[in-house]
Amino acid sequence: MLRIRTLASVSALALAGACSSTQTSATSAATPVSGPLPLKYAGPVTSAPISAQDLMTRLYVYADDSLQGREAGTVGHMKATAYIADQVRRLGLAPAGDNGTYFQNVPFISRRFDPATTLSVDGSALTAFTDFVAFPFRGASPRSIDGVQVVYGGTLGDTTREISADQATGKLVVMSAGRGGRFGRRGAPNPLAGAAAVAVIAGPQLSAQELASGRSASLTLKPEPGAPTAQVTLYVTESAAARLLGGSPDQMTVGATGRTVQGNLRYITTDAPTRNVVAILPGTDPALRGQYVAIGAHSDHIGLRAAGPVDHDSLHLYNQQRYFITDNPSGERLTPEQQAQQRERLGAIRVNLDSVRALRASRPDSINNGADDDGSGTVTVLEVAEAFAKGTVKPKRSILFVWHTGEEKGLLGSRYFTDNPTVSRDSIVAQINIDMVGRGAAKDLAAGSERYLQLVGSRRLSTELGDLVETVNRTEPMPFTFDYTYDANGHPENIYCRSDHYEYARWGIPVVFLTTGLHGDYHQVTDEPQYIDYPHMARIGKLVFDLADRVADMDHRPVVDKPKPDPKGACRQ
Ligand SMILES: [Zn+2]
Repeated sequence: MLRIRTLASVSALALAGACSSTQTSATSAATPVSGPLPLKYAGPVTSAPISAQDLMTRLYVYADDSLQGREAGTVGHMKATAYIADQVRRLGLAPAGDNGTYFQNVPFISRRFDPATTLSVDGSALTAFTDFVAFPFRGASPRSIDGVQVVYGGTLGDTTREISADQATGKLVVMSAGRGGRFGRRGAPNPLAGAAAVAVIAGPQLSAQELASGRSASLTLKPEPGAPTAQVTLYVTESAAARLLGGSPDQMTVGATGRTVQGNLRYITTDAPTRNVVAILPGTDPALRGQYVAIGAHSDHIGLRAAGPVDHDSLHLYNQQRYFITDNPSGERLTPEQQAQQRERLGAIRVNLDSVRALRASRPDSINNGADDDGSGTVTVLEVAEAFAKGTVKPKRSILFVWHTGEEKGLLGSRYFTDNPTVSRDSIVAQINIDMVGRGAAKDLAAGSERYLQLVGSRRLSTELGDLVETVNRTEPMPFTFDYTYDANGHPENIYCRSDHYEYARWGIPVVFLTTGLHGDYHQVTDEPQYIDYPHMARIGKLVFDLADRVADMDHRPVVDKPKPDPKGACRQ
C-alpha cells in the first residue's frame, strides 16, 4: 500500500540499536500455521490447493531478510521478481512480458542529492550536510532556486496562519517544523504547490535521521523528455534559516520576505532498472481466451529503514498499541475514554515485553520486510496461479497475472503496465487487486475478526462486478463480512487511490480491491511473516480464485454502468 505523503511525518522513534538485523533460526516443516510463529521457517513443497501451509512456505521466502526489503530498483527486488518468475515457469504459465519473457522492464533511475552542492546567501556559503540537506524527489529535474526570493511560510500543520499561494509561488519558503503534518487543509489546494522549494527548519543542527534521509536515493521512473520540474524539500538548521530569512523566524509574520538565495540543488542520477512480472493462464474457450481477467499484487516494498536499526520486539508491541490508541477502523480518533482503556492494555503489553526478553535478547532490525505489504498479496496471487495451473478448474477466459513493481513509489509499475500493456488493454475485462491481505484479526484492529475483509472500488465502475463479489462470497465455506468503510467517497485514508487497481480503473477497467487493511506494523520493520494470519489469507485466496473463475466464465464482460475517470487526470476517491 502506498503511503499518504506528508512532510516531516517521519517521527523519530528513540529505540535505536547498534547493528544490522539478525534473526535466530527455528526451522521445522511441522510448524503449525497459527499461534506463535517462528522468525525463520523453511516449509515443505507447495501443492495445488490454496492453503495456509503453502502461503506460509512462500511468505517466509518472500519476506526474508535476504531480499532487503524489496525496494524497486535494488538487487533485493530483482531477487524477489526472479523468485516469482521461477515459480510461474514451474507452473507452466505462458510468459507475457517483453520479448517472450516473464519480465516487463520498467526504466527506473536512482537519484541522490549531490553532497558537493553549494548555496549562498549574501555572499556567504551554506554547506550541504552541515547547514542544509535536500531530499530525493520525483519528477524531471529540481526547480531552480538560483536567484530566488526567500519568504517565511509559518508553521507546518498550523492552518490558522497559512501562507497564501500568491506569497509562496516561485519562492523558497522557509517553514517552522511545529509537529509536522501536511501542508494546507485537507481537500483544499496546497498553497505551497507553486513554491520553488520548501525549507523546513530542523533545529540547532540536522538530526541523524535528516542526514540519513539526505543521503538516501530516490528510485523512480525515468522522466519523459519535457516532464515538469519538481519541488524539492530541504531541511535547514536554525542558523541557516536565520541567514536565509535575514532574521529569526520567531519575530516574523507569515509571508514576510527574506534574502535571495544563489546556487542550485544538484543531484547524481544513475539507471536502476526494475520490472513487472507478467504471466498468462490461457483460457479454454477459443472465443473468449483473447479476453483476460487480471489478478495483481505489488512485488516491491520500501527497502531498508533510512534512520537505521530499532529494537524489533519493543517496536512491534508499541506499534500494536499505538494503532489501537489513536485510531479506529474508519480512520477516526478514539474518544478519550476509549484511549484510556487502550492505554490500560499498554500496561499489559509491557509485561509481555518482559516475557519476550526472557525468550530472546534484543533484536535490532533495519529491514522493512513487507510481509503483509505486499508479500501477502504477492504469494496469494502465486497460490491462485498454482491452483489454476495444477487444479481441475479451467476458466474460459484467460487469467492475466501481474506482479507490479514500484507501487510504493507511486503506483509506477502498474501505471507503466497499463500505459504500455503487453496484452490489448481493451481485452482486460476486470482487475482484482490484493494488497495487504495478511492481517485483519482482532489483535490487529478494533473491527478485526477471522471474517474481516475490506472491499474498495468494487462498484465504482461496474455494479455487476460489485454484486458478483458478494454472490461469490456467499458460496464460500466461511463467508467474509465485507467492510466498505474505506470505499466511501472522500474517505480521508484515500485507499481507492493508494494501490495498483486504480491504474486499471482510470482506463475504465472494472476493479475489485481486497485488503485486510492498515495496522500498527504498516511500513515498519515489524511487518514480518510471524505476525501474519495464514488461515485468513488462504480464505481470501480462495475467494479471489472463485471470483476470477466466475468472471472468466461469464457469457459477457462485467457491464460498466458508471462514469469512467480521465486516464490522465488525478485520482479522486
Ligand atoms: Zn505499502
